[in-house]
Amino acid sequence: MIARRPLGQTGLLLSAVGVGTTRFPHSELQDSAGLDRCAALLAEAVRSGVNVVDQAFSYAESRSGEICARLLRLVPREDVCLAVKCNPDSDPTAADALRRVESALAETGARYFDLLYLWSVKSLAQFERAVRPGGTFEGMREAKRRGLARCLLVSLHAPPQDARVILESGLFEGALLSCNLLSRRESAPLIELAASRGMGVLIMNPLAGGLIPQNEALFASARLPGDESTAEAALRFASSRPGVTCVLAGIACRRDWEQAKHAFSGWIPVPGEAERRLRAAQGAFAASGLCTGCGYCRDACPLGLPVPEWMQSYNQKLLAQPPELYGVTDPAQIARLSVLGRLVHGFSLLPETGTSPCLGCGKCAAACTQHLPVPQRIAELFRMAEEAGATSQAHRERLDALLNGRGYARVGFWPASAATSFVLSEYRRFFGELPFEPIFFDSAPGPSLEGRPVYGKEDLARLKPDCLCVTSFRFGGAIRREAGPLCELLHIPLVKLFQPGDAPWVF
Ligand code: SF4
Ligand code: SF4
Repeated sequence: MIARRPLGQTGLLLSAVGVGTTRFPHSELQDSAGLDRCAALLAEAVRSGVNVVDQAFSYAESRSGEICARLLRLVPREDVCLAVKCNPDSDPTAADALRRVESALAETGARYFDLLYLWSVKSLAQFERAVRPGGTFEGMREAKRRGLARCLLVSLHAPPQDARVILESGLFEGALLSCNLLSRRESAPLIELAASRGMGVLIMNPLAGGLIPQNEALFASARLPGDESTAEAALRFASSRPGVTCVLAGIACRRDWEQAKHAFSGWIPVPGEAERRLRAAQGAFAASGLCTGCGYCRDACPLGLPVPEWMQSYNQKLLAQPPELYGVTDPAQIARLSVLGRLVHGFSLLPETGTSPCLGCGKCAAACTQHLPVPQRIAELFRMAEEAGATSQAHRERLDALLNGRGYARVGFWPASAATSFVLSEYRRFFGELPFEPIFFDSAPGPSLEGRPVYGKEDLARLKPDCLCVTSFRFGGAIRREAGPLCELLHIPLVKLFQPGDAPWVF
């Protein structure tokens, strides 16, 4: 039996744990049998009492809609609270957002969605674009008015000060926030704020992208009696935070589902458990050499630099890493991507340049409760950002060299994903409106992006863009292998956004 909790004031009851579709491995997404296995695993979760299934158009290599369609052939529609997501960059207008919902309905056969997200909001400026008249949010509201979605939520990756304003806007009935043993300090006030405003709270990333199970020994003291593993302790930690409705557990395989099932079957936090779990989590950081995120260094810095966020990002380097990350297998590069991923995705702190603004005065180190070598770690963090091109300046230079001022009238982009939308938003940030018409390609024609059609490879010959820009970090090689021969035949230059050693632009 998995407990259910009310999603704010929506009237929906959500299971304490939900399952996501984003972590299914590449090998399972190649054919119908693999997609069926993914759907069967989700169906097993639903039959065990889970009713939240998270999906978005670009999850599972854009196959999450198909997986959900297969799921709905295995379980009754009303047993599932199904999510759909509109992004301010991919779906910038009300019509785009409405189209996104309608095409997801057509793909999944869901009839309606339970949870409609303004998805992956990274800054207040992006939020303001989304809620302007005629923008993304207007389309979402219209989808709800037409009965295509039951409630409107926001998923946030914005800095805390921006996230607060967005949560206080009163536009949303619930929020999807990140919370885990590593990010517990910055997430706590946001969860509290959302709950105090009557919003439901869903939690993403409860296992810190797999870092917690990979560092079982380091985080072992976060376990309370009855926790079978550190991962179980981490899932229960996130779920026991006051105000949390549902924790989304990424499911890549049966073992992940068994772990989530064991953590939540028959478990309900007892009074005082949330505090005990918080103390245990804090104890896990003691003497670990990790920044605890306590924030004492912030006030000590004469420049008001975001030292705690930098230091928590640097933490990733000190943790055991997965054998592969974003398709990269070199351990040193994985550690760098892990640090920069936290910096950019977790804190929205893409540095302007690779030159650190830190004066090296050491006041932060003197104030550090863990006696950490703070200035040295900051210097290393900026070195990593410089080497990996993870700075605004590097993004600008790359786009300038590849696309700006080249006289292109029509530029193809592959894949038709949020990564491409982000690349275009970076272009607009640096150079203003696009001087070329973007044409979106993917392995097969699909739902529109930025209100434009998405074409398949077979359309390349007919549409013949001036060049084809490959924007996927992880699958760039595979895309180039797929599109390369045809581009060569058609004399379409293939533009490679990423170079060896780079970090992705979207984590
Ligand atoms: S060393 Fe750098 S980060 Fe630390 S207090 Fe001085 S300026 Fe701020
Ligand atoms: S004082 Fe030390 S432990 Fe606390 S946030 Fe700053 S660097 Fe981290």
